[in-house]
Amino acid sequence: MNVSASAMTTPPSPPPAPEPLVRVRGLCKYFPIRGKGILSKVVATVRAVDDLNFDLFPGETLGLVGESGSGKTTAARCLLRALDPTAGDVLFRTPGGATVNLATLPERALKPLRPHLQMIFQDPYSSLNPRMTVGEIVAEPLLIHRMGTRREQEERVVDILRRVGLKAEHRTRYPHAFSGGQRQRIGIARALIMRPSFIVADEAVSALDVSVQAQVLNLLKDLQEEFKLTYLFVAHNLDVVRHFCDRVAVLYAGRVVELAPAAELFSQPKHPYTRALLSAVPWPDPDVRMRFDVPGEVADPSRLPSGCAFHPRCPACFGPCKTQRPELKRLSPTFVQVACHLHSPAD
Ligand code: SF4
Repeated sequence: MNVSASAMTTPPSPPPAPEPLVRVRGLCKYFPIRGKGILSKVVATVRAVDDLNFDLFPGETLGLVGESGSGKTTAARCLLRALDPTAGDVLFRTPGGATVNLATLPERALKPLRPHLQMIFQDPYSSLNPRMTVGEIVAEPLLIHRMGTRREQEERVVDILRRVGLKAEHRTRYPHAFSGGQRQRIGIARALIMRPSFIVADEAVSALDVSVQAQVLNLLKDLQEEFKLTYLFVAHNLDVVRHFCDRVAVLYAGRVVELAPAAELFSQPKHPYTRALLSAVPWPDPDVRMRFDVPGEVADPSRLPSGCAFHPRCPACFGPCKTQRPELKRLSPTFVQVACHLHSPAD
């Protein structure tokens, strides 16, 4: 067989980029603050999430990091419609291949999609009903969505308990009989029983001892592989994020200021806030969440600074920073996206 010279020298074309599972566009969540009195007027607005944009690809883990008050948890809740967004789109590709806007779907249309969208909570102590057995807790989503016979539900519960490292006999016990790590496994089993495609893990290992954290993270990785899961991993522990996430989005004042592959973000941070965050010393505050010793005050979301919200704290602040808000843009030829006037798309 003759093969032409051009065919021999033409490099194979790269595989097509996968379609995002979730596309977040211009997502906003504002909370009005009212003055005193029954008929009080709105006196201010807290912009907890303010024009959030990112894509999540099938099978990846995207970390969402930032100081307390950066809007991580509010954004995560808006994505799953645990909170109604004020504006913007959350475009989700269903297992059937259709694209729906989770941000605007009425509750009736949202309900059949709920099984595909699940959350793993931070606190395994308060997220499990102490009056229900483990079997009842894990089976509850099947009952709500009327899936399978009683026997099939039992079989699915036993199966998922085994997959998360628990035993069949655990289903008759109550949450108080378990350790923190085991309770988080129960929460994971409950999230997985409906075979979701998208999981938001909100500080899912923050309340656990370091040794247990590693076990639960390994379990989450194994389950991701097995069930082809896509994770949005909200966390304050940058060490965990560095090892667990494929890409990382850094939030400041409710917006993404840098989004990059994890290895690149940690080795070559581009945004001044990311640099400050990575060099800052984290310290625990009374509500167990971590704060970072980044110099200056965190931007008040009810009175965001003009221009770049980070400008009052930024050591590199210059000309346009106080008046022009930098857009999130991709730095060619990398996959890094940065919202900062120091970086132009051609950098
Ligand atoms: Fe600093 Fe200006 Fe970049 Fe904002 S836009 S991070 S103020 S250099």
